[in-house]
Amino acid sequence: MGTSMDAFLQEAGQAIGAQWVDTRDATLARYGEHTLPAGRRTPGAVLFPDSTADVQAIVAAANRHGVPLYPISTGNNIGLGSRAPIATGQVVVDLGFRMNRILEVNEEICYAVLEPGVSFQMLHDELARRGDKLMISATSGPPHGGVIGNALDRGAGYGPYFDHFGMLCGMEVVLGNGKLIRTGDGSLQTDNRLNWHVSKYSAGPALDGLFSQSNYGIVTRVGVWLMPRPPAARSFHFTFPDDDDLAEIVDLCRPLKLSNFVPTLFRISNDLYAISSEAKNQEYLAGSKASISDGARRALREKHGLGAWQVSGLFYGASDAAIEPMIQRVRAHFERSGKARYIAHEEATAIAPLRVAIESMTGRPGIIELGMLQWRPGSGNSWFLPGTPMAGRHALELDHLGRGIFKKYGMDYIVMHVASARFARGLHVLVWNKDDADENARADACYRELAVEFARRGVGVGRAPVDYQSLHMDQVMPELRETYSAIKKALDPNGIIAPGKYGITVA
Ligand SMILES: Cc1cc2nc3c(=O)[nH]c(=O)nc-3n(C[C@H](O)[C@H](O)[C@H](O)COP(=O)(O)OP(=O)(O)OC[C@H]3O[C@@H](n4cnc5c(N)ncnc54)[C@H](O)[C@@H]3O)c2cc1C
Repeated sequence: MGTSMDAFLQEAGQAIGAQWVDTRDATLARYGEHTLPAGRRTPGAVLFPDSTADVQAIVAAANRHGVPLYPISTGNNIGLGSRAPIATGQVVVDLGFRMNRILEVNEEICYAVLEPGVSFQMLHDELARRGDKLMISATSGPPHGGVIGNALDRGAGYGPYFDHFGMLCGMEVVLGNGKLIRTGDGSLQTDNRLNWHVSKYSAGPALDGLFSQSNYGIVTRVGVWLMPRPPAARSFHFTFPDDDDLAEIVDLCRPLKLSNFVPTLFRISNDLYAISSEAKNQEYLAGSKASISDGARRALREKHGLGAWQVSGLFYGASDAAIEPMIQRVRAHFERSGKARYIAHEEATAIAPLRVAIESMTGRPGIIELGMLQWRPGSGNSWFLPGTPMAGRHALELDHLGRGIFKKYGMDYIVMHVASARFARGLHVLVWNKDDADENARADACYRELAVEFARRGVGVGRAPVDYQSLHMDQVMPELRETYSAIKKALDPNGIIAPGKYGITVA
């Protein structure tokens, strides 16, 4: 095996067309940038395949020449690594630019079959064009994020189909060793693929999970289950006045999810998570290096008519009238606390951060939440993603821990808990000025301390920014790490696909 990048690029160009091999400085600079504390990770080249056969040819050539590849769907993983590779010099395989076809929409059984470049917005628009009978599970992140990239990174939405990886069914994968496999009933040796995207558990080991948050292969096609769009949808919202109300909120949400009375997840966003999408930190702009003061937070809450916490959920039904009694039941449940202030659906549609909840729970991608990236200038953004059992006392203890660490490093505590029956994922958002070296170092140290302190309490993360994947992997038992490596060795013996991702290498 040689190590010549030039020979690899020439071979890749012969396979996919030389015009789809990009080594221009401007392109490499654009693909190397990201919002995390570390410096740029400039790729060696960017390739734009058009088909599974192209991907296979690229992987085969990479194996021959020992060139590491980094696949992306659309590369909109903002705050988690964007489209930059794990290490400088890896060749980005941008699947989104050309492999962005919606291969099938089945409106009878409610699924779509997609190539990796199909974005949430593209799928939404195609379903709308067909009469809006099906809805996507939207994120509240970039509408141009990829449905498959997001699902493989175990991203999530907010409606009943929130578990994006769980809603995938039937994959086509080019393994690191160059072999092509289909999972599930798609693996049967016939051209008939009747059950590929509807049967979740076929005979034998279920391998699909191997391709999420890993570096064992490149996924080139997937079935995605879709929810029928209900005739009506109405949301409900409550604000709570105090930071420590989180404990009571969590205890109020839990029974409504355990019984599945409320079909969506609850979005429990703190003041800054809600308000930062349409405001800037004025204390920071006036020269403060500390976390925003409690006084300024209170003033922002008053100005925006929001609380220390906002709770949002939504019902689907046959009509608004059919839904209303369910909303009244939830309202009575929350108002028993004596602290909740109810905000009705119509009023919430005019409040941007609450409208995000409605849009995401009804499968409409939007850009409102991206505003939080400008809370402070300078484009620094990372996401610390631990979680809490759905018991108020645990949620509050972890809240105090996180709040204290953010404050220690002069970061603003921007948090949303996304709550299901037994567990809530806590989206902790760091937004800082990357151009300020001291602030950049503090943001980095803040994340690292959060990771260490939460893990000490038995709390890992659901997904990690590229800069910290090895840190998290070093926290797990060595036997598990060895197992990940052994699988890597079996499926990608030359370590071609994203070596180092989630700390996984062949050795
Ligand atoms: C304000 C804001 C809000 C956000 N809200 C949400 C939210 O509500 N929910 C959420 O989940 N995320 C959210 N995000 C995070 C992120 O932007 C999205 O998850 C985004 O959709 C990721 O998709 P992508 O196509 O950009 O992924 P990519 O960057 O293309 O890929 C993600 C990862 O998967 C791997 N990968 C991609 N495609 C393949 C493939 N075909 N084969 C093998 N590996 C592959 C990549 O190597 C990468 O590691 C938010 C971000 C911001 C800034």
